[in-house]
Amino acid sequence: MAGPCSVESERQLMQTAEAVALAGARVLRGGAFKPRSSPYSFQGLGVEGLKLLAKAQANTGLAIVTEVMSETDVDLVAEYADIMQVGSRNMEHFSLLQRLGTCGRPVLLKRGMVATIHDLLRSAECIAAHGNRDILLCERGIRTFDTVTRNTFDVTAVPVLKAVTHLPVIVDPSHAAGVRELVPILARAGAVVGADGLLVEVHPDPDQALSDGEQSLTFPQFNAMMRDLEHYVALAASPSRLSLALPQRLACD
Ligand code: PEP
Ligand code: MN
Repeated sequence: MAGPCSVESERQLMQTAEAVALAGARVLRGGAFKPRSSPYSFQGLGVEGLKLLAKAQANTGLAIVTEVMSETDVDLVAEYADIMQVGSRNMEHFSLLQRLGTCGRPVLLKRGMVATIHDLLRSAECIAAHGNRDILLCERGIRTFDTVTRNTFDVTAVPVLKAVTHLPVIVDPSHAAGVRELVPILARAGAVVGADGLLVEVHPDPDQALSDGEQSLTFPQFNAMMRDLEHYVALAASPSRLSLALPQRLACD
């Protein structure tokens, strides 16, 4: 899964969709509704962004993953998205999770920045309990005391989640790293520990991006990463064969 952090313009999105499809991506990512830490930053194109995603899908055949931030937008986003993304900041937005139980689309649930593996599983359980069992779990790095990277990629989460659930596990090396130089090597690590997919930010001109440019790959960098990953996918572990019991109960309290 690859594409820009935010859908910014028709030109930006169509160019990116074509480039990532050619390099082997199957799903186009792009935020139309953006959860920004500052109210003064670009907030996304909203419905216009969703329409551009539909156009990119028509041009390339890529499936679409895009974020939904509010339960009141679920029906609208579900008209355009093949996969509904729940961002880290909303991992415990329970009214949104409940509503996604009946959205009729798979949900990509990103781990909260300060969420334990149990917290992530409880949020997934909330979506499932409300009727939707099509859930993809996403490890995108957590906050630790270290500030060298944007987040700390919890590589352990991948085999653990694969061992204790039946759900696909996706790794987002972009938001873990925060800098593009580290993205390919974290993607390798994700592949080797058994991730079922990757979610990677790619932009035609990252230095001009309206969000997350520092961690976005250029087209040649994405293409090189995809070629390199072929070797590592072949080495992937099968963590679902591990017999691991979670140390604490999962039930909500
Ligand atoms: C994103 O995917 O662009 C995003 C906002 O990610 P996260 O929710 O992991 O910060
Ligand atoms: Mn982003």
